[in-house]
Amino acid sequence: MRYLTPASFEDAVAMATGSDGVIRFLAGGTDVLVQMRADIVTPDTLIDVKKIDGVHDISRADDGSWTIGVASTGAEMTEHDGLGKDWPGVVEAMDLIGSTQVQGRATLTGNLCNASPAADSVPAMIAAGATVSVTGPDGTRTVAVEDIATGPGKTSLAQGELISSVNLPARGAGGGDAYLRFIPRTEMDIAVVGCAVNLRVDGDTITEARVSLGAVAPTALLVTDAATALIGSTLDDAALDALAAAASAACNPIDDKRGTIEFRTKIAGVLAKRAAKIAYDRARAQQ
Ligand SMILES: Cc1cc2nc3c(=O)[nH]c(=O)nc-3n(C[C@H](O)[C@H](O)[C@H](O)COP(=O)(O)OP(=O)(O)OC[C@H]3O[C@@H](n4cnc5c(N)ncnc54)[C@H](O)[C@@H]3O)c2cc1C
Repeated sequence: MRYLTPASFEDAVAMATGSDGVIRFLAGGTDVLVQMRADIVTPDTLIDVKKIDGVHDISRADDGSWTIGVASTGAEMTEHDGLGKDWPGVVEAMDLIGSTQVQGRATLTGNLCNASPAADSVPAMIAAGATVSVTGPDGTRTVAVEDIATGPGKTSLAQGELISSVNLPARGAGGGDAYLRFIPRTEMDIAVVGCAVNLRVDGDTITEARVSLGAVAPTALLVTDAATALIGSTLDDAALDALAAAASAACNPIDDKRGTIEFRTKIAGVLAKRAAKIAYDRARAQQ
């Protein structure tokens, strides 16, 4: 196995395009190294992105948008001064991943590119309207987070392409987001259902919303009907019931020992209501 440490994304692209066989990028390694030890994947080439300039940076631009480096860890996100004020739902989703040790390594980018349907940060990023910069042989393009995973363990990234940053939009006034998951234990478990809600209010009225579900389909879902149920409402009982019904209707889950189809479908609605209430309170506090 070749272990490579590019100094730039352009180098990483050249290394990836010039390599045959199985290629993996190494960010925190909390998926890749576990998969290697379990003989699930044996890369011919491992390209460690952690030495590229700026990959540990979390920065807010003058327009209020955020750029999160591809090696920024969950711990770095949680400890950041401003990120959690603007995007508490994204930070709390990332913070749910693993243990203290895992938090010191795990990244948003790795969570996204591992393409688990149950990845915790992915619904939160989708609800936030996050995009990623994808660098490849033809330059850099911007891709919505919901367009990266195409199925369990599969992404839309072409050979030689890698993510070079995660981008969150400006929070703006009256905005709030939240992420909740159901797990049978209190921690260190994989979501049976995850739900993120991001919304904006004007007074008490919701003017914008995005709702995303995880672990109820082969990829995390952006549920536009659930957002429609919220927009124009003051989060009254009728809106909450319509939200829950739309969230449940979007589910296409597997049936396994961790949750039946019926259970996951019902819980999606329950979590959507709860996450919407938290996001709504956060949004009203930001006016
Ligand atoms: C004990 C334990 C508990 C965990 N608990 C949770 C949990 O509760 N919730 C959860 O969602 N996950 C959990 N995970 C899984 C894992 O920690 C997360 O998915 C984590 O965010 C992966 O990030 P990473 O940086 O470690 O990824 P890595 O392992 O470095 O990479 C993961 C994948 O992303 C690809 N990749 C990395 N960087 C790039 C890039 N720049 N461009 C393109 N592809 C790239 C790699 O090729 C690889 O396929 C757990 C893992 C462990 C070991």
